Amino acid sequence: MATLRSTRETSPDDDEHDPEGPTLSSEWSRIRGLLLAAELRLGETDAALARVDDGSYGVCLVCHRPIAPGRLEARPTASLCVECASRL
Ligand SMILES: [Zn+2]
Repeated sequence: MATLRSTRETSPDDDEHDPEGPTLSSEWSRIRGLLLAAELRLGETDAALARVDDGSYGVCLVCHRPIAPGRLEARPTASLCVECASRL
């Protein structure tokens, strides 16, 4: 992320150079959004792996009942059962 930011700061005159395509700033916004989404997924994955390590993976954090296998298959990083997630 620091690399992306420093690259942008060293080339501010590149913005809006192509009138036919998307502006560079809109591309940066889009890429920043993708990066944030990837970081969020990475954080969820790390948390799921930590739950595997401590033996609590597949157990709902709220009601402490097992999370349905189908839910974990669809969303392996799920930390709540369907019932508790739907109450949020
Ligand atoms: Zn639950």
